[in-house]
Amino acid sequence: MSKPTNTDDLHATTRGVLAGRRAEWTGTPDHPGAVVNPPVWRASTHLYPEMAALRAHPANQDGNFYYGRRGGPTQWALAEALTELEPGAAGTVLYPSGVAAIAGVLLTVLRPGDVLLMTDNAYEPSRAMGRGLLKDFGIETRWFDPTSPSSFEAGCCERTKAVLLESPGSLTMEVQDVPALAAAAKARGIVSILDNTWASAIGFAALRHGVDITVMSLTKHVSGHSDCMMGSASAGADWYRKLRLRAQGLGNVVSPDDASLMLRGLRTMKLRLDAETASALAIAQWLESRPEVARVLCPMLPGSPGHDLWLRDFTGGCGLFSFVLKRGTSAARDALIDALDLFGIGYSWGGFESLATPVDPAPIRTASAWPLAAMEPSDAFGIRLSIGLEHTADLIADLEQALAVWAAYGEVA
Ligand SMILES: *Cc1c(COP(=O)(O)O)cnc(C)c1O
Repeated sequence: MSKPTNTDDLHATTRGVLAGRRAEWTGTPDHPGAVVNPPVWRASTHLYPEMAALRAHPANQDGNFYYGRRGGPTQWALAEALTELEPGAAGTVLYPSGVAAIAGVLLTVLRPGDVLLMTDNAYEPSRAMGRGLLKDFGIETRWFDPTSPSSFEAGCCERTKAVLLESPGSLTMEVQDVPALAAAAKARGIVSILDNTWASAIGFAALRHGVDITVMSLTKHVSGHSDCMMGSASAGADWYRKLRLRAQGLGNVVSPDDASLMLRGLRTMKLRLDAETASALAIAQWLESRPEVARVLCPMLPGSPGHDLWLRDFTGGCGLFSFVLKRGTSAARDALIDALDLFGIGYSWGGFESLATPVDPAPIRTASAWPLAAMEPSDAFGIRLSIGLEHTADLIADLEQALAVWAAYGEVA
């Protein structure tokens, strides 16, 4: 199969089918018997036919056989597919997890003495990096209110080197004005990094919106099957090169078996995202109509915080959103989650199966109140749902009976 020359003109679904399937990775050129998917090339050692070939080998050229830690065709195919899905990207680096990707990017961009600005609704392990890993290396982290440009400006100083954005943010789902924040960062010479795990490149074209480096936990939607972990960072040529060299220096490598699973997930990601998004919106609308529910935090839901920015900037949604119960207790919320039959209780999200977890972000925040802390009643308890591929009506029926268990817990005034 010859590779189309300008895949940027094709729709995301088409690119998702074609990407990363170079003839030299899926067959033996000029011989019949090519396969559809790049096979799993398991290797630590790549052999050279003779000494002259070893001596002639270009030092650290991207995408060339060298040694297993630099990857092989299976990993290159996944990286190339992700690059093709991210308009404006020159390359993609793979990491063993999403957290490893965030750490790899921050350790590429930041130096001792630098300041990192981080959105206050960032994924908790990202926050922990600011408090621990980065602090230990002499890098200071400051947090800013995700939806306040003035909080971002106030957090900047002459030592600010990078900003870590996440939109919608973990747990509370505020959508950030990423184009405005990325432009403000650029004007100050600050590198902008986005955790784009929620929308993925299919739902939000990060680099096209001005971001310098975009990160995804592939564990979520690219895998889509809750059986594999990986992370990625995509960027333009300058940052891509620096990220690749730093990742090599840190010894980051992903297994070809896992890369093959990720490629398999990637082929159906757009369909899964579309199905989940439609189901999540219907469930969010149903929850909004329920007397037990104080507030639904879902960017796709009209009237929800961030909906206008989501409409303006995004080309898709996903099945992850949160809602807040009226009053109640932590125990009543536990009873609700325990009563759910179709929702698993567990971390992660973006798989084909639905999940529910409790959400209590207020104690985590440092630069902004959880928007709901100001809400009446102040003792609201949140639940985060990851909507999978079960039928929407079945999920709603399950939530309905679990809400009845919650109400019967005796905590509703
Ligand atoms: C899960 C997640 C990560 C980390 O990914 P892992 O693959 O679990 O390490 C990073 N950011 C967000 C927003 C996530 O939800």
